[in-house]
Amino acid sequence: MRIRVSIGTLAKMRILNTKMYIEPTTAYILQYSEHGCLASCAFCAQSHRNSIPKDYLSRVIWPVVDLDKVLNALKHSRFSRVCIETVLKMGFLEELVEIVKEIRKATSIPISTAVVPIPSDKLRRLQHEGVDMLGVGLDVATPQIFERVAKPYTWSTYIKFIERSVEIFGRNNVVVHLIIGLGESISDAVKILKKIYTLGAKVALFRYVPLHHIKKPSHDWQDYSEVYRYRVIQLVNKMLEYGYDIEQYLEFEDNRVKQLKRMPKDIDVTEVVLTSGCPGCNRPFYNESPRGPIFNYPSRDLAKRDEMKIVNEFRAFGIEL
Ligand code: SF4
Repeated sequence: MRIRVSIGTLAKMRILNTKMYIEPTTAYILQYSEHGCLASCAFCAQSHRNSIPKDYLSRVIWPVVDLDKVLNALKHSRFSRVCIETVLKMGFLEELVEIVKEIRKATSIPISTAVVPIPSDKLRRLQHEGVDMLGVGLDVATPQIFERVAKPYTWSTYIKFIERSVEIFGRNNVVVHLIIGLGESISDAVKILKKIYTLGAKVALFRYVPLHHIKKPSHDWQDYSEVYRYRVIQLVNKMLEYGYDIEQYLEFEDNRVKQLKRMPKDIDVTEVVLTSGCPGCNRPFYNESPRGPIFNYPSRDLAKRDEMKIVNEFRAFGIEL
């Protein structure tokens, strides 16, 4: 069976010889579909409707590899998780179950998979075969953006799917993907973050990579106001993950955060900027060039190195840490 694997994962597996700035801690697999995903999401390189080469997802290249080769490499690897990203195509669920079964036969590494809404019996089947964390590609913050970017299914189908997934996988074992930069306001982002945590799921934040930036280096694309907005949303996400009532800590005015009243004692600023998602998922430079600005820090060491810069980014948004 042919699958796609992120270039960093292949480098760490020594299947491909390429420079790695930071090693991925998760092995990232993407289902293969020659003509891409049948969904029409306007922001996604995998969508059949976008004329981007199908070996891209976000700004990462995903070469096609034989599954057997990857299974063999996984037996000898040091990944803390395997993640299988799905695409909509005929028989994608049956193929997904097959991939999960083969991985589980080869290794005991925890497995995540990221899916669109699927029936509950299929969720249970995936869990039975070894998936312990489920990613849900809601991607957008509001029903209006959902319509505008032509997501498949409906907004309420996704919300109900998150509820069903939490019932099956348990609280904190469902991770909703949310892309920042698709036209949502900070209030929109805060509102959907609160909703997702209320449902018992967590959030993995992604920064939007415009399709026209995918094939060229993005070092010339540095909108720092975007970094500041992203930092605020990362802070809200971390507080909600820790169970804090954000209104006790942040003061909102209109559509912005006016000030941080106080920082929760157990949250460190370098933790706030780390890649969010399943345990062990670091997605190195998935949304940004290693030259920066770095939106999701893939390692604590890198975040520690940039600590003062990060504090200044928060300050620029009126947040004194
Ligand atoms: S958070 Fe990471 S490991 Fe989890 S489903 Fe999303 S991409 Fe996969």
